[in-house]
Amino acid sequence: MDLPISAARLWDSLMEMATIGPGTQGGSRRLALTDEDRAGRDRFVEWCQQAGCTISVDQVGNVFARRAGRDTSLPPVVMGSHLDTQPTGGRFDGVYGVLAGLEVLRSLNDHGITTLHPLELAVWTNEEGSRFSPPMMGSGVLTGVFTLDEILDAVAQDGARLGDELERIGYAGTASATDHPMAAYLEAHIEQGPVLEVEGHQIGVVSGAQGQRWFEVTVTGQEAHAGPTPMRLRRDALVAAARMVDALHHLGHRIGGDACTTVGILDVEPHSRNVIPGKVWFTVDLRHPDDAVLATMEAEFRQLVADCAAGCGCTAAIAPFWDFPATPFAPALVACVEDSARAFGFSQRRIVSGAGHDAVYIARKVPTAMVFIPCIGGISHNEAEDISLDDAARGAAVLYRTVLAAADGTLSLS
Ligand SMILES: [Zn+2]
Repeated sequence: MDLPISAARLWDSLMEMATIGPGTQGGSRRLALTDEDRAGRDRFVEWCQQAGCTISVDQVGNVFARRAGRDTSLPPVVMGSHLDTQPTGGRFDGVYGVLAGLEVLRSLNDHGITTLHPLELAVWTNEEGSRFSPPMMGSGVLTGVFTLDEILDAVAQDGARLGDELERIGYAGTASATDHPMAAYLEAHIEQGPVLEVEGHQIGVVSGAQGQRWFEVTVTGQEAHAGPTPMRLRRDALVAAARMVDALHHLGHRIGGDACTTVGILDVEPHSRNVIPGKVWFTVDLRHPDDAVLATMEAEFRQLVADCAAGCGCTAAIAPFWDFPATPFAPALVACVEDSARAFGFSQRRIVSGAGHDAVYIARKVPTAMVFIPCIGGISHNEAEDISLDDAARGAAVLYRTVLAAADGTLSLS
């Protein structure tokens, strides 16, 4: 395979970053704004400076390594991802996108290419949302999802204030965290799911991110003694809830495609083995890449809850908990990712991101696309997370070609 990037150099950098904040089971532990995160950021900065980039840090700690373009008045084409990890995270989630971007910059140096637009490589602050919640803080501040002040005042599980931790590790920058022009944004990432591997594809061309709607359902029946209450006279809230869970599962199957319906938590009251449950509370997570289909799913969900409750002599209440609109990526950039994969002869498919990524927030303001590579067994957020060197190289090659196309000014991004 003759690629414009160096697979070995990319892999060496991935393995070296994995030595910073190692986990106990072969993974990584670089929680946001800890000493380990600082060490990872420092190594990144060192590598980027060696590659001839200039570094800036914004007020929320996002780091940007800039490579000059031929026209300094143009906004940069930006690549990026995150270096922070889950407490028992893998070596590639986030890190891969950052170091694939670095490999693109190093390869451009090798080939002596200067792009028309400047290029930037971003490391976003606290993507994981583990030590500080919510996730995707750096990209969220940049795109106006959160205010800078609310994020600086966020308090970690260990009691530390985010703004203080930024100061402590030396990444409280002065560049504006909200005004950062970009021509386009590209993020490479491991899939974090099994689809590419199961279907034997090498590249996932990400067309956007799923919309999500989360609800809480409370089903009310009547508590009664498990012995003296005949079956025909029961109002069993758990039976009603069980029918709802099953019907929701079938709803996801029936809509098909990228539709997902999940019940993840269920509480039964009074939780006694000889009492008919009088009350059940459960969570519902509906996802689809098209908001119109998601609206249909919500309507059907509401109807099936009402029907199942009535069929069991119960009542049910549905409370919305959280929602996130579907985020389509920029069609021209997505097509360019696809063209790039095709140009190298990689097998590929369009795929929707089921997980949150910095790119999903950035896409609200800037033409954005993502490149997915397979991860072994679909395992992620786990120390066992793994990828192959060849897949890593393929993703970086697709990123390289797409960035060149976006940065030479000929690709219409609007
Ligand atoms: Zn990630």
